[in-house]
Amino acid sequence: MTVMAVSTSQINEDTKLAREMALMGNYETSGVYYQGVIQQIHKLLMIISEPTRKAKWQLVQQQVAQEYEQMKAITSTLQLFRIDAHVDRPIGQAMRSPAFEESPRNPSPWYSSTPRDPDVWPPPPPRDPDVWPPPTPAEHKASAHVKPIRGPVKKTETVKPNLRSQKTNSQTKKVEPRQANKNDRSRPVKKDEKKEETKEKTDKEKEEIEEEEKDERKFEGSGYDRDLIEMLERDIVQKNPNIHWDDIADLREAKRLLEEAVVLPMWMPDFFKGIRRPWKGVLMVGPPGTGKTMLAKAVATECCTTFFNVSSTTLTSKYRGESEKLVRLLFEMARFYAPSTIFIDEIDSLCSRRGSESEHEASRRVKSELLVQMDGISSNSDDPGKIVMVLAATNFPWDIDEALRRRLEKRIYIPLPNGEGREALLKINLREVKLDPDVDLKDIATRLKGYSGADITNVCRDASMMSMRRKIAGLRPDQIRQLPKEELDLPVTVQDFDEALEKCNKSVSKEDLNKYEKWMQEYGST
Ligand code: ADP
Repeated sequence: MTVMAVSTSQINEDTKLAREMALMGNYETSGVYYQGVIQQIHKLLMIISEPTRKAKWQLVQQQVAQEYEQMKAITSTLQLFRIDAHVDRPIGQAMRSPAFEESPRNPSPWYSSTPRDPDVWPPPPPRDPDVWPPPTPAEHKASAHVKPIRGPVKKTETVKPNLRSQKTNSQTKKVEPRQANKNDRSRPVKKDEKKEETKEKTDKEKEEIEEEEKDERKFEGSGYDRDLIEMLERDIVQKNPNIHWDDIADLREAKRLLEEAVVLPMWMPDFFKGIRRPWKGVLMVGPPGTGKTMLAKAVATECCTTFFNVSSTTLTSKYRGESEKLVRLLFEMARFYAPSTIFIDEIDSLCSRRGSESEHEASRRVKSELLVQMDGISSNSDDPGKIVMVLAATNFPWDIDEALRRRLEKRIYIPLPNGEGREALLKINLREVKLDPDVDLKDIATRLKGYSGADITNVCRDASMMSMRRKIAGLRPDQIRQLPKEELDLPVTVQDFDEALEKCNKSVSKEDLNKYEKWMQEYGST
């Protein structure tokens, strides 16, 4: 299997640029860099076999992902201000809500009232969580049809007061007319009536709070270590992954199959019973970077399930010693928060062929536990509200042992994008950047034959960076910070694509593709 060489110095360089861009307020560009770094580390992790080194890089990946999330949260917040600004409110004023009020403890220029050039964005706020906790994306309002996916206990606790205060606000609004009536001197208010009203109000408040509490059930998991539960909730339960079918180019057949295999049983549990019972598990097979993880996230978003995102390497390395227990806890938690999707990435590394030399006793036990738990799912599947679906992904299907393969009943191929898909990918990746009118995306899509979705994202990222790289070459950070946004945000040209294409090679070879096709012919079930 050929995996594109990943250079750690490139990761360093790109991380630096991601941070610099964020500091300059160039969030879009910074985001593209962050995404790239995360992907590069992901690729690197695939080729590192030494456990300590792997664990270190996993930690780095987590940190970078956290930074990226914070940066995205800042962008979302800014977006809210911009919407405010459209309602004829100056940005500065919008920011001067009590939460952002300047204080001696908070002397950040970020929300100072000093007039500034609106096109040169100030640096982001200091990262002191006590001073200005940046909201996580999930704390922003979820889109109307997305049920907020249950998150870690700690987070729920911090969100709760907000919910309550929102409720209280709306109640205050609701009772306004009554208050107006009370103040209306033409109508005397009886004491009893007042009492009755207050009682009614407090009863209603209580009811709503109780309702909320019922709605926000927390997993207690008796018999489990509290630390382990928190670890799982923190690292594995992913709040609203917010990837929709439309964010994924092409892969129509895969989307249809996933909808049928995962989404429909969750929507119509009564229909999917007996002979029509849902599949125990679905395995997505295909070259790296073809959108398997994105598909899993879209499944969780589109059918509003709690999303458990587990990488096998995380299970076996990070939680060494606890892995077996963790698998049990994972499924118990998934049943508690059902309907749930458990996504196991790189499942091959957890389930390499039984009896092979590399198979350690520990990983054999984890694997057995997984099999037991998956069997448990199917025996529970008659309970309509409790559907738990295992969705797994692998780049190495031939390494998966037979017992697991049998439980992953539906096995679907996620191929490299075709011409139409490559063009759609280009459009998705370039939707936020300006294009020179000479750029013909159809032509570029043809030149990208054999590239995976991730490769195409890399090409787009590189191409969209070219003009900026030329602009900042040789400048000092303070000079870079002075550059107005529009000087950096130039349209991407054909030449930019030529240079990017020269730098980025395809990561999947013809032999690899043959291997996948052969495996699918033998074991596929679509
Ligand atoms: P896999 O899980 O198959 O290795 P991912 O789902 O993690 O691949 O995709 C890696 C990156 O490649 C994504 O973050 C996205 O930028 C890009 N990508 C791959 N396939 C697609 C697709 N079909 N549509 C949109 N983006 C894609």
